[in-house]
Amino acid sequence: MADPTEETSGAQPKAPCDDQPNHPAQELAVVDLACPRKDKRQNSGGSRTIHKTKLGRPAKLSTSLDCTVSKTLTPNRVVELPPNASTDSQDVIARLPHEWEQKVTSWGEPAYRGRQVFEWIHRHGVLDPAEMSNLPKALRARLVEEGVRWPLAMISSHLSDDRTNKLLVGMPDGERVETVLIPQLQDPTVVTQCISSQVGCAMGCVFCASGVAGLKRQMSAGEIVAQVLLGRHELEPDQRIRNVVFMGMGEPLHNYDALARALVLLTHPDGIDLSKRRVTVSTSGLVRQIDRLGRDFGGQVQLAVSLHAVRDEDRSAIMPINRRHGLDELMACLRRYPLSKRQRITIEYTLIKGVNDSIADANAMVDLLRGVPVKVNLIPMNPISASDLQAPDSSHVMRFQQRLTARGLSVFVRKTRGDDVAAACGQLAFHPGKQTEARSLRRA
Ligand code: SAH
Ligand code: SF4
Repeated sequence: MADPTEETSGAQPKAPCDDQPNHPAQELAVVDLACPRKDKRQNSGGSRTIHKTKLGRPAKLSTSLDCTVSKTLTPNRVVELPPNASTDSQDVIARLPHEWEQKVTSWGEPAYRGRQVFEWIHRHGVLDPAEMSNLPKALRARLVEEGVRWPLAMISSHLSDDRTNKLLVGMPDGERVETVLIPQLQDPTVVTQCISSQVGCAMGCVFCASGVAGLKRQMSAGEIVAQVLLGRHELEPDQRIRNVVFMGMGEPLHNYDALARALVLLTHPDGIDLSKRRVTVSTSGLVRQIDRLGRDFGGQVQLAVSLHAVRDEDRSAIMPINRRHGLDELMACLRRYPLSKRQRITIEYTLIKGVNDSIADANAMVDLLRGVPVKVNLIPMNPISASDLQAPDSSHVMRFQQRLTARGLSVFVRKTRGDDVAAACGQLAFHPGKQTEARSLRRA
């Protein structure tokens, strides 16, 4: 997975397979995740896989706050849920403070207890009511009955040579998704987390492992946000998650209500408190939902758009969504997306050898993007087993970049991260194995 927040402008582009580990992947024994902090894995070279079958207790309040809660410099304004967003009353992890207040008052507790519950879950990452030490015993018991518990169980983690950590997580119905922790190269204490929004994806892009797999189901807002709560427990003590990108499995705008709620939760000042400009939603181009995101969040959430081809016939061949919303419609939508003065839309362009990587393509991209405030991220295609498509060689990537730059675009080549553990873009695909998850969640 490339860290889209880390840009290597002008850097020597790397072929996607250059990063293979020096040592074969190492299988480690089953680890009980009793306390995430105890499980320190020094990366001594070679990627490794750690299987976990239990979801253990999260860190205590003080450690959690010291090590993992992202603090932004400027206070985050509370964002209300979009008025038309639907609410899933079963999704207890996704409740907002006022919803917890209503709930606990209906149980005869004072309203402030509701806010405490929210803070335990989202600020401190404590999802076991027994650990919510400042709540009365009866309320803790009520929360257990209400279904407050981890909606995800950690199945395994795969630590790459470059410290990218791919986490495989299971859900109560046995489905699995992946989320990736990507420490910045210059400052590994700063981490970007790539999260999934669906199990599989319905969009069917031919170069993408999730698309080839197809959509299995939507993720709930609680499941989406719990990836970050879980990710925080996997960090080293000096690390913190500063950026979250919806670039894992799934098309986030095809799961709009859950996405919208997850965005509010991720940026809530009493919870995870990410800065809105540090949350990026990446989309293949669902025009109506891009408009809705712009309306609902006033353009504050970062938008990334997967372009990948600059002519309708080429784009439709690799991205079926283009048959519904062609390039003219997409560009018109991007032009009206509300952006602040200095903000730009990220254009993701996966370079595929012989498909979209000619100099004529580069020239056509410049014409297409004229008048849209963008920066372009070139991603040499990561190979997937279901396709013969490949990346161009690195000198070709550089020529493509140079042409765009010479014609005035701001262009970055994403460094591929974690490809030795298949954590790179488009390599996230779900794995069957219902039994294992069902067991591990029962134990959690
Ligand atoms: N569905 C959303 C977000 C998830 S995909 C979207 O398509 O934007 C995240 C990024 O990975 C997208 O830009 C996607 O096009 C890219 N991607 C998918 N498969 C890839 C592959 N095999 N190699 C490189 N990038 C890929
Ligand atoms: Fe879905 Fe994005 Fe993959 Fe296309 S690239 S199939 S939209 S996850």
